[in-house]
Amino acid sequence: MPPDWRSRLTDPVSAAPAGFKSLVSPVYRGSTTLFTSAARAEDHWDQERIAYSYGLYGTPTTFELSARIARLEGGTHCFITPGGQAAMALISLTFSRAAGHVLLPDNVYGPSRDIAQLLLSRLGVEAEFYDPLIGSDIARLFRANTQLVWCESPGSVTMEVADVPAIAAAARGAGIITALDNTYAAGVLFDAFAHGVDVTTQALTKYVGGHSDVLLGSVTVKDARLYQAVGDTHSLLGMNASPDDCSLALRGLKTLAVRLDKLQDSALQVATWLSKQPQVERVLHPALPSCPGHETWKRDFTGSTSVFSVVFKPGIGREPLLQFVDALQIFKIGYSWGGVTSLVMPFLELKRRHRQYAGSVVRFNIGLESAAELIDDLDAALGRNLR
Ligand SMILES: *Cc1c(COP(=O)(O)O)cnc(C)c1O
Repeated sequence: MPPDWRSRLTDPVSAAPAGFKSLVSPVYRGSTTLFTSAARAEDHWDQERIAYSYGLYGTPTTFELSARIARLEGGTHCFITPGGQAAMALISLTFSRAAGHVLLPDNVYGPSRDIAQLLLSRLGVEAEFYDPLIGSDIARLFRANTQLVWCESPGSVTMEVADVPAIAAAARGAGIITALDNTYAAGVLFDAFAHGVDVTTQALTKYVGGHSDVLLGSVTVKDARLYQAVGDTHSLLGMNASPDDCSLALRGLKTLAVRLDKLQDSALQVATWLSKQPQVERVLHPALPSCPGHETWKRDFTGSTSVFSVVFKPGIGREPLLQFVDALQIFKIGYSWGGVTSLVMPFLELKRRHRQYAGSVVRFNIGLESAAELIDDLDAALGRNLR
């Protein structure tokens, strides 16, 4: 201990208390991490080269989360990002170059579309949007400068399930990287690497976090060269994730299995009930035959989750639909999904180039409330506003 109290206040010596063992991973914070000698000091993100060199690249808490996600998805390495959107940006900036061409599905998560159109375009990368049900015909869109094929399945809002194995095989044959946004499947209900995908991402904000109280993303790979490529860009962009947030995601992982089981069950009950209502044209739930790509879901997925959309009858106008949404009591109006609370969001101006529905689309996220009460809530709001 230094003799002066001022020096004692800031004395950095810290050690895990001997004899204390809990079931919980500690939250390790730290910007500076200490070296045992000057000769050993080195600043590099690659944990395989130097375990800890600077807190920006991760602390033991961050690395525990990334290791668990990598293992869960069957990858070898994972990077944690400050949110799902940051993960999309990380992949786009790692795998595209000026004068290049990237392919994205027409139903890609809206802000991912914005990355391509507003950010990549400024860097001289051309984005082209394909029909999510294109399958192996994607090869017809490949050009000499195509660098990345993006997949998201089921896609956002319209929920088409893509033939990712066929798309990935075509891309591999042409030497093009395939990236998959595997958020819907929580990284576990669709085995991306076994189906030929090179890079996966998840908004951990959704099912892994699971309680609407944290924003995080992940990028997972299964190849040493891709690990180096993503790691370089991750550190260049300074994509730090807070260890506190990572500890919430670690807690979320412990209950992921029971939450997914319950959410699947309730969502199917509610979606099936909705499919029988006279105001409903079509339910876009991957586990129901009315969802485009349902057969592919049956072939490739081991379950469905909490989010689906409803196409209402074309005659139902904007005002009554908004009144219906406002009349819901248990369902709350808000973006995002995957938490414990049921949510609803109208997408009345939705434009889809390949599968435009005549009726309006409303997205539902089922939470952990009683499914019977959710159905009563929908029944009451439909009856009052959309007869
Ligand atoms: C929510 C979401 C994201 C973005 O995640 P954030 O953590 O909210 O930035 C990305 N992809 C999909 C499919 C999503 O639903």
